[in-house]
Amino acid sequence: MGKVIKQNTGSSNILEKHENKLKGLGYKFTKPRRIIMRALSEGSKLLDADSIYMLAKSYDPKIGIATVYRTLELLTRLNLICRIILGSEKSYYMLSKDCRKETSIYMICDNCKRIIANNKCLNSSIKIRLRDDAEENILKNCKIKIDNYQVFFTGLCDKCSK
Ligand SMILES: [Zn+2]
Repeated sequence: MGKVIKQNTGSSNILEKHENKLKGLGYKFTKPRRIIMRALSEGSKLLDADSIYMLAKSYDPKIGIATVYRTLELLTRLNLICRIILGSEKSYYMLSKDCRKETSIYMICDNCKRIIANNKCLNSSIKIRLRDDAEENILKNCKIKIDNYQVFFTGLCDKCSK
């Protein structure tokens, strides 16, 4: 086992759950899928496809960029990882317990790109909820089907704001 930087979400637990979920959906827990989820679980930085590819390559030098992209697409579609699109249409990925059910409130540091999720102090200052029947109203009035929403803040993390 390599070094594992524990995220406060309990990443090893998520990996096990994701493995079971993948198998439950009839997908094999292939090496690239395992490697990519592991790469996402190790850091607490926001990773784009290229950085995931570099990390994956350190586990398996034979892994190809096309495989990484394909795997990211699949895992995103299955809601095992969440795609975050920041300003410039650049996609980043993070591991999540369940992107559909979980409404994540997180903060992304503009400077070091660290993700701060499930931060009690941050969460205690924020109260965000959809209006009753929001999903139905949005579908009816805006013709937009929402199945998840994420709230993120940007700024400087505790280390960078010093
Ligand atoms: Zn920072």
